[in-house]
Amino acid sequence: MSYADLHLHSHYSDGTFTPEEIVARGQKQGLGALALTDHDTVEGCALMTIECAKAGIEFVVGTELTSEHKDHELHILAYFVDPQNERLLREIGKFQIVRQERIRDMVAKINALGVPLKAEDVFALANCKSPGRPHVARTLVRHGQCRTLDEAFERFLKKGRPAWVPKAKMSALEAIELIHQAGGLAVLAHPGLNRNDNAIPDLVAAGLDGIECFHTKHPPATSQHYLVLAEKHNLLITGGSDCHGMSKGKPLIGTVRLAREHFEKLKLAAADRRSATLK
Ligand code: AMP
Ligand code: ZN
Ligand code: FE
Ligand code: FE
Repeated sequence: MSYADLHLHSHYSDGTFTPEEIVARGQKQGLGALALTDHDTVEGCALMTIECAKAGIEFVVGTELTSEHKDHELHILAYFVDPQNERLLREIGKFQIVRQERIRDMVAKINALGVPLKAEDVFALANCKSPGRPHVARTLVRHGQCRTLDEAFERFLKKGRPAWVPKAKMSALEAIELIHQAGGLAVLAHPGLNRNDNAIPDLVAAGLDGIECFHTKHPPATSQHYLVLAEKHNLLITGGSDCHGMSKGKPLIGTVRLAREHFEKLKLAAADRRSATLK
């Protein structure tokens, strides 16, 4: 039985839906559990908690930490963390500032190419503490500098394009420790996108708890590959759609679902972690 969508973004990072919209859509899809995994922030989790409670849906506090290991970018999902954990908030706060500075750097590069764009307009559109490239792309489209978001990425924002700016990231091993001390579970996000299986033993040695086997961009063979690795390393199995809002006229929420048995195992592991953290 499919049950949970554990990878969702809201307008508190680069998604477009409000928590209310996410929960309404999750309910329509018949989902029993949702996790919010905005990039480098837990800001939307308070509202998600309230909306999920109203809808009778289980809610998991989450965030997706942009991190790196041996010069490769990796995304580490944090689940069941305490959203008020001071160290977690302090650390992700630093990366929110990095993101804001990076927006200014990208805008300066776009301006240097003769294209007018104001950082303040990007911040106004983003209206969140954790802005990213999609907000720059949307502002370029809104101001008529690009016709589509794809064009904005292709002309300016993709890695190697003239307005691409690298992002300072936390170490993946530190991210795992940060999540653990906040009472949560650390999960490697969409490994099929990063294709860096060599990092997995190092992450496991640092205490990685799980691996996102099911993801929108994982074809069945990729999911199967990571299910085998999860078994090999005794890792929990997670899954989610990585919905950022409407995608080609339809939202992704509910199109990737985690079976209830895997979700229940996650909850048990989180309860163990929480009681170990409180000791
Ligand atoms: P950032 O965190 O600022 O590096 O932005 C990453 C976000 O940009 C991710 O959520 C992706 O979904 C989105 N993104 C990355 N590359 C592209 C692309 N070529 N076209 C559209 N969106 C993209
Ligand atoms: Zn995103
Ligand atoms: Fe990601
Ligand atoms: Fe994501």
